[in-house]
Amino acid sequence: MLVSLFEHPAFSLPTYAVIDKPFGAFIQCSRIFIVMPAMTLQDLAKSLHNCQRCKLAKMGRTQVVFGVGNPHASVMFVGEAPGFNEDQQGEPFVGAAGKLLNDLLQSAGLSRSDIYIANVIKCRPPNNRDPEPDEVETCKPFLMQQIAIIHPTLVCTLGNWATQTLLERKVGITKVRGQAFYLKDFVLFPLLHPAAALHQGSMLEPLREDFKKLREFLDHHAKPVEPTEAAPAAVPTLQIDPPQPAQMDLFGT
Ligand code: URA
Repeated sequence: MLVSLFEHPAFSLPTYAVIDKPFGAFIQCSRIFIVMPAMTLQDLAKSLHNCQRCKLAKMGRTQVVFGVGNPHASVMFVGEAPGFNEDQQGEPFVGAAGKLLNDLLQSAGLSRSDIYIANVIKCRPPNNRDPEPDEVETCKPFLMQQIAIIHPTLVCTLGNWATQTLLERKVGITKVRGQAFYLKDFVLFPLLHPAAALHQGSMLEPLREDFKKLREFLDHHAKPVEPTEAAPAAVPTLQIDPPQPAQMDLFGT
């Protein structure tokens, strides 16, 4: 017999118990479980509002930069951390690197409204320094939750930080860029970071090549879809077949 017990005091969530033997005033119950309502991106964003979980909260950030875009996107982009403009405006990739990214997206047949975009770190590190390991460790679960909620087929990482964070390996971006890695829940496609080309002009051509490879990959895998509530027609839907064993074994593991 399943009975509703009480509202869980800690979370105000409905809690249920499976009653095996009612025995006078005592009951024996074999399992108690809490019904967790599905979390939405809005819930997650709200839970991070004014986040104080790591030291970046007290190092001059203006606000948490959660992420923007199509919540039903098949393709998600992940950058490193907000810079000055992102910190001011509360959106990823709105500065110079963002303008270049928009241009590159267009070259791959994508637009900002097709994709979702977020960073590994949601707060601007002081003077745009690299994220520190404790900051990545604190913030990574929220990126993973964003990925779990959006459920993209393809995740494009921009630069070393995002790539290493999601591949969970210290592998240089120059070794893995422009290739598809078939992970458990999505396909990872590492790309050079647009900011790298802004700092070093010679990186622009390799960056454009990466997006050309992305376009080829999308052309090969994107399928037109009927408009539905869950997937508006404008969003390219990706159907990526399971990889050949050789593709899964890129790291020799
Ligand atoms: N660089 C990033 O990695 N993310 C941004 O949001 C902006 C620049």
